Amino acid sequence: MKLLEDRILKDGIVREGNVLKVDSFVNHQIDVDFIAELAKEFKRLYEGEEITKILTIEASGIGIACIVAQEFHVPVLFAKKNKTINIANDVYTSKVESFTHKRSYDIIVSKDFLKPEDKVLIIDDFLAMGSAMQGLISLIRDAGATIVGAGIIIEKAYQQGGQMIRDMGVRVESLARIKSMDNNTIEFIH
Ligand code: 5GP
Repeated sequence: MKLLEDRILKDGIVREGNVLKVDSFVNHQIDVDFIAELAKEFKRLYEGEEITKILTIEASGIGIACIVAQEFHVPVLFAKKNKTINIANDVYTSKVESFTHKRSYDIIVSKDFLKPEDKVLIIDDFLAMGSAMQGLISLIRDAGATIVGAGIIIEKAYQQGGQMIRDMGVRVESLARIKSMDNNTIEFIH
């Protein structure tokens, strides 16, 4: 999506350790009108699909997912990063390895909010190694719900996540796909 690529080139900052910072419009300050344009693109891509729920992961996914949900008129459910040792049996749980924070944690959603009849669109800001996405997929499958697909703002396509998730049979739509990045240049796949 040209609008997004131009914004990444203008405001994105490539940090050491292969991290792209988009704090001025996605991850810290949120440009709501801009994300609303991205939401319209997700709506266009998933036009005709039945979707009953949007699933994301706290914290950075929540704001984005809420703006996307305004296009689809469905609730947003966000997986919580679990801090307690004992996992209650009224939740679905799975493990996520964090690429940016270099640690692993459990994510949970309540069984009350994810049901076998749900048709779920996953929304997230980044797709890198695919661990966050894999964790969300696992929650949906445990609930016996249907995965309609995933909508990602930025896919770092040179990392393995996108391929891995597509190989699992899940539709992935990324609005910007980065082929390579270093301090001076960011290249996209079209
Ligand atoms: P994955 O599990 O696919 O490796 O990483 C997905 C999560 O890690 C995203 O939800 C995002 O929060 C974070 N992430 C991965 N790579 C980047 C990056 O280059 N920049 C930022 N800002 N977040 C990233």
